[in-house]
Amino acid sequence: MRQSNLLIPTLREVPAEADLKSHQLLLKAGFIRQLASGVYNFLPLGKRVLRKVENIVREEMDRAGAQEVQMPALQPAELWQATGRWDTMGQELMRLKDRHERNFALGATHEEVVTALVRDEVNSYKKLPFSLYQIQAKYRDEKRPRFGLLRGREFLMKDAYSFHETYESLDETYDVIFNAYKRIFERCGLNFRAVIADSGAMGGKDTHEFMVLSDVGEDIIAYSNESDFAANIEMAPVVSNYEKSTEAPKSLEIVETPNAKSMQEVADFLKHDLNQGMKAIMFKVDEKFVLVVTRGDHEVNDVKLKNLYEADIVELATEQETKEVVGAGFGSLGPINVSEDVEVVADHAVQYLVNATCGANEDGHHFKNVNPERDFTVTQYADLRFIQEGDLSPDGKGTIEFARGIEVGHVFKLGTKYADALNATFLNKEGRAQTYIMGCYGIGVSRTLASIVEQYHDEQGIVWPKDLAPFQVHLINLNVKKEEQVELSDQLYNQLLNSGVDVLYDDRPDRAGVKFNDSDLIGIPYRVVVGKRASEGYVELKYRESGEQEDIHIDELQKHLK
Ligand code: ATP
Ligand code: MG
Ligand code: MG
Ligand code: MG
Repeated sequence: MRQSNLLIPTLREVPAEADLKSHQLLLKAGFIRQLASGVYNFLPLGKRVLRKVENIVREEMDRAGAQEVQMPALQPAELWQATGRWDTMGQELMRLKDRHERNFALGATHEEVVTALVRDEVNSYKKLPFSLYQIQAKYRDEKRPRFGLLRGREFLMKDAYSFHETYESLDETYDVIFNAYKRIFERCGLNFRAVIADSGAMGGKDTHEFMVLSDVGEDIIAYSNESDFAANIEMAPVVSNYEKSTEAPKSLEIVETPNAKSMQEVADFLKHDLNQGMKAIMFKVDEKFVLVVTRGDHEVNDVKLKNLYEADIVELATEQETKEVVGAGFGSLGPINVSEDVEVVADHAVQYLVNATCGANEDGHHFKNVNPERDFTVTQYADLRFIQEGDLSPDGKGTIEFARGIEVGHVFKLGTKYADALNATFLNKEGRAQTYIMGCYGIGVSRTLASIVEQYHDEQGIVWPKDLAPFQVHLINLNVKKEEQVELSDQLYNQLLNSGVDVLYDDRPDRAGVKFNDSDLIGIPYRVVVGKRASEGYVELKYRESGEQEDIHIDELQKHLK
């Protein structure tokens, strides 16, 4: 394409509103423009790169056997009410009314829509398993939209949903998509880790995030320097094997209640009103030490309310170990005296501990999305705010290091949460109605694009990896007044186009300095400069990444552009 016709509004100055390199460079190099806070235009260069990321995602999702669909962004409130998320999503959910005063949401995610679709269109186990995906704008009224494309209010997501008859089938698909994600982020050239994650408001249990390692990431991950172990600091396994108990314990003692200020708080905590600023209680149940830890965000807001009703039970071997964990995390206020009230509390605690192993307490609050059919000897997760750098990795291999990460992807085993809420059933092999078991899988496509820039830039501008670059070759005519340069440039342009090379042709009447600056900013892998030696048939070839350059005869050019 001819640059003279293209909308590439490069900037000389760093835009004042942008702190991060990716944000600055995407603005400066003319890839994006902000329309409103967290809402962006993609200009021609931005759109081309976005499409490249999309296509990598699409190829790998297709290869994983998922089917591409497109679901509406405009979604009736009834669907969100049915799953309870009309309330629990709080202010993050964008809402509007139609002319008949009916409530709608703009899709923040599509579990509701896809579950309703499948409920209405599929009715037999014979069709299972299958996965649907789409690449589409999502809307979230983020409290702090920032960092350009990294945290937008309208952003591009690939979201996928899988439907199963059995948990084994879900596990298989989860693994297939997990591996597809690895390939996607590898093909994007990103330095990333797959980490164990918190299920947050999604209600899933088994879940991983894909984190691009970057100092500007908003998440902190803990990883082993010797093994594959990596976890979001919010959540990481401490100890496994909490056996499902069938009887109430014979004795229960509250050993420690870090950061509880009163017995009332302890009681409230145990009655699952976890909005108390409390994070943990240490029990001694029979001869075991048990830590009950609330999960989720530090921030208490509507969106995260769901988290506050979730807790984890962590069983630890020794009192000392348990105290270390508690102390490290919260700065214990010391044991609270066992008073009469505590007896009441203890009753609750007994019930809690028993019931939590089957997923719910007597009030019907779900603590964990535990699948009662499955063995409960799963790995338990505790708050990794306990864990320090240099600790032994929970898998026993290596020591823990911390790094910052940008969450570019997230995979969940949802279980039957959404299908239950929306009565989505099919006829199983025995001819009985059964609720779908589901998985869901997201990738922030626009966030991935920004992460690539975050990782691939230098002082002069963006340095695109070849597979992501908006063009492969930047052909620059240094002087459009020189006839032999125009002639050779035009000739090369056509040759490159004919041989299928994506080429951006700078045919503008600007000064050389302007052209070079823009070219460095835009970051196309190969730069071919037609200058003084045009009459001899020589051009200058410069590699954006290494900065190396050489004079090359035009007959030799093609074989250098690999
Ligand atoms: P975050 O923790 O950053 O708020 P999330 O956990 O809320 O993200 P998910 O619900 O897991 O996000 O959505 C799937 C993916 O969508 C995320 O892994 C991320 O890559 C992307 N994403 C989420 N929110 C945004 C946003 N505001 N802007 C750009 N991408 C986003
Ligand atoms: Mg979020
Ligand atoms: Mg997250
Ligand atoms: Mg997430």
